[in-house]
Amino acid sequence: MMSNFPVSDIRNDFPILERKVNNNDLVYFDNAATTQKPNTVIDALSDYYKNINSNIHRGVHHLAEKATEEFEETREIARSFINANSTSEIIFTRGATEGINLVASSYCKHFLKKGDEIIISEMEHHSNIVPWQMIAEEKELIIRTVKVSSNGELDINQFKNLINNKTKFVSIVYISNTLGTINPVKEITRISKVAGAVVMIDAAQATSHKNVDVKYIDCDFFVFSAHKMYGPTGVGILYGKEEILDKMPPYMGGGEMIKDVSFDSTTYNELPYKFEAGTPNIGDVVGFKKAIEYIKKIGRDKIYEYENSIRDYAHEKLVKIDRVNLVGTSKNKIGIFSFHVDGFHYYDLGLFLDAKGIAIRTGHHCTQPLMEKMKLDGTARVSLAMYNTYEEIDYFIEELNRIINK
Ligand code: PMP
Repeated sequence: MMSNFPVSDIRNDFPILERKVNNNDLVYFDNAATTQKPNTVIDALSDYYKNINSNIHRGVHHLAEKATEEFEETREIARSFINANSTSEIIFTRGATEGINLVASSYCKHFLKKGDEIIISEMEHHSNIVPWQMIAEEKELIIRTVKVSSNGELDINQFKNLINNKTKFVSIVYISNTLGTINPVKEITRISKVAGAVVMIDAAQATSHKNVDVKYIDCDFFVFSAHKMYGPTGVGILYGKEEILDKMPPYMGGGEMIKDVSFDSTTYNELPYKFEAGTPNIGDVVGFKKAIEYIKKIGRDKIYEYENSIRDYAHEKLVKIDRVNLVGTSKNKIGIFSFHVDGFHYYDLGLFLDAKGIAIRTGHHCTQPLMEKMKLDGTARVSLAMYNTYEEIDYFIEELNRIINK
């Protein structure tokens, strides 16, 4: 057990954790779906609308300048958070999903041709499957999938066999939202590059749990969402290497993404604005900065260490319950536990636990192909965050045992 992590102080920063659900203290174990928000983020949103609100980039007045400054500060802190070279490589989106769609609709639509192959894996979230299917249908591309082993790891040898000179794009999840597995994204990128493929990493589940470094991974694209890292919903980031973004056509047309417009011809704005058509989600982008600052203040290494400690604690207790079957038991994983219980439907488990104030997720977790592979139609899922405690895990295990043994 790790005792020097300031979990009580952290919990005090998250007002929602004080509330009761069904007359019990809330135990929030649905962090892979979305995380709760600290006061610093909530206050920043209110402060933005009370004191700053204005449209950005176009005004000369005080509020327009202030809003632009705050908005662009988030871009810079996000750049340094993932260790990108330049803010030109940081594009604001609505979330990881939009980032993936942007790349499929711009890069793949423009640069891939009939018969080219895209590799994804069996453990992808629907948002890293469907955009590729859509573009594959339109352009007659072929999608290949990396297999997942029974303990929930990618079969890297099969991946090496899959990759060939027709492989033009590889898009792989960094950490699986269903299994918790941390994939060897640097190795995957290296293997893909040897074959000349462009690589995208879906980091939706990674950025709140561990240090991430796009230069170290050397991927071409990297997407994530603010709401899974203590920030607001409706904001995400697409990182792309500048030389690739430069040659990609815009994804949407409109204001902000242009330099000059006439009815004869239109020239596009420079990076990153070329990909940011229309008025963005300014307030939430401003709030996102506070979330990143919050994570940095606590320290990603400390968060990782603490979360590993509560992961091990939960794992030890879960495996002791006879009828619990864990799905995804890779050694290299975060505190995400998908499980099914003999004799119980996951949906009932979710409802029973909710009656005790415990929020877990049930269902296919937007990974239906993975469920099919595992011969399941869904699981119960506990996903931990840095504000969860050993005591909450004890309470959950106690209630789970009570339900199972009733
Ligand atoms: N990829 C993974 C692995 C995810 O867990 C999620 C969200 N559950 C997404 C992509 C999509 O993220 P968003 O809904 O924020 O766009």
